[in-house]
Amino acid sequence: MSNLSGKPLRLALVAHDAKKGDLVEWVRQHVSLLEGADLFATGTTGAKVLEASPQLKLTCLKSGPLGGDQQIGAMICEGVLDALFFFIDPMSPMPHDVDVKALSRLAIVYDLPSAHSPSTANFVLKGLFSQRETGA
Ligand code: PGA
Repeated sequence: MSNLSGKPLRLALVAHDAKKGDLVEWVRQHVSLLEGADLFATGTTGAKVLEASPQLKLTCLKSGPLGGDQQIGAMICEGVLDALFFFIDPMSPMPHDVDVKALSRLAIVYDLPSAHSPSTANFVLKGLFSQRETGA
């Protein structure tokens, strides 16, 4: 799967602990589309995704609470990502809440397509795919 410039799509994956299972399952369901993408993930999320779908081209960054969210935020600022899939746990307090807010905020500041649940992730992925097909 590539972006409009013909390069592989660059997608970021982050999931809080209670949502990692949902993200791993969502990736597994879309693995044929995601195989052609360059994926970046926070450390623990990335390890779990790769365990279930080892064929993916995925770079594991630092764990979220250790700076991984900020690394992805920096990638957003630099304009290198095509979308963010950030499965947030809305039910638990996070020690790195400021990083969670900062990452969500940067996705909005830079108008980066982003999804926070499996159903919205489906829409974003389909949108990216149809954009590539139609050139729109
Ligand atoms: P993790 O980080 O993938 O290393 O668990 C996710 C997060 O930001 O909580």
